[in-house]
Amino acid sequence: MRILPAAAGTGIIFRRTDLDGFEIEAVSRNVARVSYATSLMKKGVLISTTEHVLSAFIGMGIDNAIVELDNLELPILDGSARPFVEMIQKVGIRKQRRRRKYLRMLRELELREGNKFIGVYPADAYSVSYAIDFPHPLIGKETFEVALSNGSYLRHIAAARTFGAREDEQKMRNMGLIRGASSENCIVLTRDGIENGPLRFADEFVRHKVLDLVGDLALLGKQILGKVVADRAGHAMHTALVSRILRDKTLWEEVTLSAEEESDERVPSMQAAAGSFA
Ligand SMILES: [Zn+2]
Repeated sequence: MRILPAAAGTGIIFRRTDLDGFEIEAVSRNVARVSYATSLMKKGVLISTTEHVLSAFIGMGIDNAIVELDNLELPILDGSARPFVEMIQKVGIRKQRRRRKYLRMLRELELREGNKFIGVYPADAYSVSYAIDFPHPLIGKETFEVALSNGSYLRHIAAARTFGAREDEQKMRNMGLIRGASSENCIVLTRDGIENGPLRFADEFVRHKVLDLVGDLALLGKQILGKVVADRAGHAMHTALVSRILRDKTLWEEVTLSAEEESDERVPSMQAAAGSFA
């Protein structure tokens, strides 16, 4: 996998080098399948598990990049967004000569599905509040709220790893998922504990949900100005929110910000490559 700089206005594009460079834009209309991970598809070509690298881009304020891969699944690495963040930090970030266009919420939008909830509300900046209630002795109810600015993503979210139950592992492998999964790249839950501690944060589970949400909301194709509140949601509800927002143009407006400093588009300074995976 390689991350390449892209021209201002490009957005994020995935490129399958094993399929003659076929490109899939990281936008809502290409969302294909959402269960344990979010997949994009265009003309039958699939890119799976896009959420962690997209989350890293949003968290670092990267607007334009091309992600090349020679496989249908993004590398899971350590199960968090930190390796992607480090790849980009290593090569640096460059400002581009184009004002960033934000999607600013004007009205609220709420979705419910049984006891699951996700909503987005007008606000001057992007923030996320997430609650989970997971029937496991180490998790239970956890909530986390974060403003995604001033480096808080890097400090509080990027390193939170994905998690899975040992008993679900075979089921997921049968679905063709987590082909690269092992105790090196996710927190493995047993019936009453974890197999591969220690946790990076006491509330690492809910922080990872925030990471996933930020990655899925990247499919808006723009940075959002709004407060997102989620309770026991998942990839399906995250991506449903994105497509509902985009469908109703009375909910938001496209704006540029006046503060010079923060409002230009950004791109990785040069090519960043990651080694071989799974
Ligand atoms: Zn995840």
